[in-house]
Amino acid sequence: MRECIWCGRSIVAKNRQARFCSSKCRVYAHRNPIPKAMTAAERWVRRSATKVPLTVTGSAASSTNPDTWSSYQDATASSAGVGLGFMLGDGFACIDLDHCLIDGVPNGAAARFLEQFPGSHVEISPSGDGLHIWGTAGERPGKIRAEHDGLHVERYSRERYITVTGNAYRHGQLLPL
Ligand SMILES: [Zn+2]
Repeated sequence: MRECIWCGRSIVAKNRQARFCSSKCRVYAHRNPIPKAMTAAERWVRRSATKVPLTVTGSAASSTNPDTWSSYQDATASSAGVGLGFMLGDGFACIDLDHCLIDGVPNGAAARFLEQFPGSHVEISPSGDGLHIWGTAGERPGKIRAEHDGLHVERYSRERYITVTGNAYRHGQLLPL
């Protein structure tokens, strides 16, 4: 059963590519691609094609120096690098699932893992084959790695930026991770 990536209701359209239950949901999703708690935070950076974090003026940004971060408005207005990134910390956290999407569909291990996070905001990574589960968590040191059914899982909660594409796998909220 396919579900609308904005409201979660089942999709009855015959089009197998349909990702929304209605044009209303599609419009809302395009207007609000990123959770408001994130767009309201001054934790935005640009990123290079090789995923180096950059300031809005194109110099190196640091995950430990908030002076190198910007507002969402300033970051989206900047043309430095190739895209956006968001600095974790202060309660913002992310789980990174690499190489788990095939033609936009999560593999079995990833699908089972995602079931632990109903309602969470999930983005497709710039490469198109990974997922980022966004949410909240207290700050814990470094990166926490684990394997679940062969799925490579990395959790981050501080001193790290994560790319943001605005390309949601599932629109949702920032919930405890
Ligand atoms: Zn919908």
